[in-house]
Amino acid sequence: MTVLIINYLYHALFEQPHRGGSISNIYSQMPQSSIISKVDFDKIRKDFPVLDQKVNGHPLVYLDNGASSQMPAKVADRLDHYHRYEHANVHRGIHTLSQKATDAYEETRRKIRGFINSRYNEEIVYTTGTTDSINLVANSFGSLHFKEGDEIILSQMEHHANIVPWQMIAEKTGAVIRVIPVLDNGELDMEAYKSLLSKKTKMVAVIHVSNALGTVNPVKEITALAHEFGAAVLIDGAQSVPHQPVDVQDIDCDFYAFSAHKMCGPTGFGILYGKKEHLDQMPPYRGGGDMIDKVSFEETTYNVAPLRFEAGTPPIAAGIGTAAAVDYLTQIGMKNIAEHEQELVQYGYEQLKKIEGLRFIGEPEHRASVLSFVFDEIHASDIGTLLDKRGIAVRTGHHCAQPILRRFDVPATTRASLSFYNTREDIDRLVDGIEYAKSFFEF
Ligand code: PMP
Repeated sequence: MTVLIINYLYHALFEQPHRGGSISNIYSQMPQSSIISKVDFDKIRKDFPVLDQKVNGHPLVYLDNGASSQMPAKVADRLDHYHRYEHANVHRGIHTLSQKATDAYEETRRKIRGFINSRYNEEIVYTTGTTDSINLVANSFGSLHFKEGDEIILSQMEHHANIVPWQMIAEKTGAVIRVIPVLDNGELDMEAYKSLLSKKTKMVAVIHVSNALGTVNPVKEITALAHEFGAAVLIDGAQSVPHQPVDVQDIDCDFYAFSAHKMCGPTGFGILYGKKEHLDQMPPYRGGGDMIDKVSFEETTYNVAPLRFEAGTPPIAAGIGTAAAVDYLTQIGMKNIAEHEQELVQYGYEQLKKIEGLRFIGEPEHRASVLSFVFDEIHASDIGTLLDKRGIAVRTGHHCAQPILRRFDVPATTRASLSFYNTREDIDRLVDGIEYAKSFFEF
């Protein structure tokens, strides 16, 4: 029985490898009817019922997508349908409902593979989010490979999720953390990065798009340079996957981490992409049901990757909902989303720049979806509170990226983070809202 189920899962996961090629190749393989050539983003906005409401008497302007994006009705309906009619535990039931739930849950792996263009389905590990994905690599890869004096390179603009897990494993193994500095314009100092690399470097872990500044980092170049020294590379893709096409074979990174709730999917679900050659060697990170082959009190053997990393009953509904989110984004087209958001973020940058006293934190050449700014005379939380009175949702604070705020000598910023369902009108409302907030302060 156990053998049958493991066989079933093994065959469900193992398929022909999918070789390189760009994301556009994936779109060209999709049926033409599923591609919207000229996207009507105003119409798409109507897919999100949550946006059609008043907050504090004003129509909601949602500009906190960096924290969590909103969910289209199609994804919410998929979750609802699963909960009402399809729920059963996965991977362990012989009955029809359990097999159906397993099929739907495993389908997500295939969809994610296509979405980020990994070679194999079994390179896609289910986690609970970016944070969990990075902790998995730090613990499992780190305990296998790091030893006293080895070096882990991070950047000064990392989210805490890509700092703290490395500090924890460094403390256990004696490895040392080195940090790539950030230039005044909010870009990585690539010359400094090159000088940090050495034979001691075992891991380079960097953010693809900065959640605090919006900087898009040259992850392909960063990866190639690290590989020259035999180091592995992890990319934190929490803020990139929702906003642009991502091709992990093209980047050639060893690991790539992201969260479903930032890409129109549910909370509690995330992905770790890992090259098969690494995942096959890495020890499990958590023990329990599902991740084992045989268990006895004398000896336990483990399941194959990626199941080896997925102990216990997983977030089944969230996983199935994530497949619906991937379908939804794929139908719009990530290239279309990227182009639309680029146009919007540029418009936002130009409009906000006109506001007296407003100072951007980070003015990188390549920016995605994030506008982060301060007023020397007004605290960010005051701006955020007053914007909320006008129905405008932004994030204020350190954005879980304290080192980069310290680098720019500010305790907090106000961050407007965009998604494809935002409009120029949302930006205009933000500008009006900031002027309204400013009117409470004299300077
Ligand atoms: N990395 C980045 C760049 C992020 O923006 C976030 C979420 N703010 C995370 C990691 C953590 O993601 P999660 O909380 O979904 O694990």
